[in-house]
Amino acid sequence: MKQLKDLVRPNIWELAPCNPARGEYSDPAPHVFLDANENPYNPPFNRYPDPLQLEMKTLVSKVKNVPTESVFLGNGSDEAIDLAYRIFCTPDRDNAIAIEPTYGMYKTYANINDVEYRPVALDADYQISSGKLLAACDERTKLIWICTPNTPTANSICREEIEVLLREFQGIVVVDEAYGDFSSQQTFRSELGKHANLIVLNTMSKAWGFAAVRLGMAFASREIIELFDRVRHPYNVGMLARQHAIEALRDPYRVQDWVRMILNERTRLVSAFRELPCVVRVYPTDANFFLVQVSDAQGIRDYLASKGIAVKDCTGVPQCDNCLRITVGTKSENVELLSALRSM
Ligand SMILES: *Cc1c(COP(=O)(O)O)cnc(C)c1O
Repeated sequence: MKQLKDLVRPNIWELAPCNPARGEYSDPAPHVFLDANENPYNPPFNRYPDPLQLEMKTLVSKVKNVPTESVFLGNGSDEAIDLAYRIFCTPDRDNAIAIEPTYGMYKTYANINDVEYRPVALDADYQISSGKLLAACDERTKLIWICTPNTPTANSICREEIEVLLREFQGIVVVDEAYGDFSSQQTFRSELGKHANLIVLNTMSKAWGFAAVRLGMAFASREIIELFDRVRHPYNVGMLARQHAIEALRDPYRVQDWVRMILNERTRLVSAFRELPCVVRVYPTDANFFLVQVSDAQGIRDYLASKGIAVKDCTGVPQCDNCLRITVGTKSENVELLSALRSM
């Protein structure tokens, strides 16, 4: 990769490191807080939370097996997606590459930040060669987005191809492992020491069951995380999200139980779907959802909607014609889905 300085927008590189309002390490620690114009009443909500997010970062570091200085915490990992554009891509000048189809927010935030977005089509088996991605790059390409397991296709992207990108691409490779907890693949978090241009995204919205809490993570070199922490809002994760996240991170075993149940149900659902007359094919899945090609995606979506069952119609998504994306639910939800489809 190029030097980090040559990848970061000059205005961002020049920003002073964030300077917390309240010195964290002063001795003696203050007990009278008259420095931040807070209301002295209504504890514990009256005080600004720790802008350094140390308690959460320490816990995340343990659970995710990544050094604390390699942890960024955001208001969902969508915040990290937006920040990556704001840190690396000069508007109306730089560009970003992504596989297609993939997670829609890469494109949305490219548009918001006035960054050219270059989708590169997956092959028929929803894989991609690194050569095809690298061929789409030029000297203004700063980011390559790889979502693995990918959505809506549900498969993992071949690890060797991502490793070639990490070695050969001159910019930043973002590996979004939002569904990594469900995957049989090894996480790229373990590769951070090897690749200075790697950013890995995780979220608590999927396997951790915390979509409403809004906590996402980015893992990268200390230098990249410092940039993220400089650019983010100082209090981007509120106290309530922190409390819930800290509680959950102290008991990560619950998540393993959920993942096990969801994967068991996924196996059952996929076999049942293969027997349904309306199903053309079920694509391989490495996530908590699967993509299924059916006879009439819109018709089946509408029929299920009339029964109060929501599934995602992928009509219009490139290479997903007549496909539905089905999230694995609880056993009873899945039973309801199957019986609706059987009596269609
Ligand atoms: C759900 C999802 C996210 C992010 O979700 P947040 O709720 O913002 O943390 C990121 N990437 C992918 C691929 C997702 O599916």
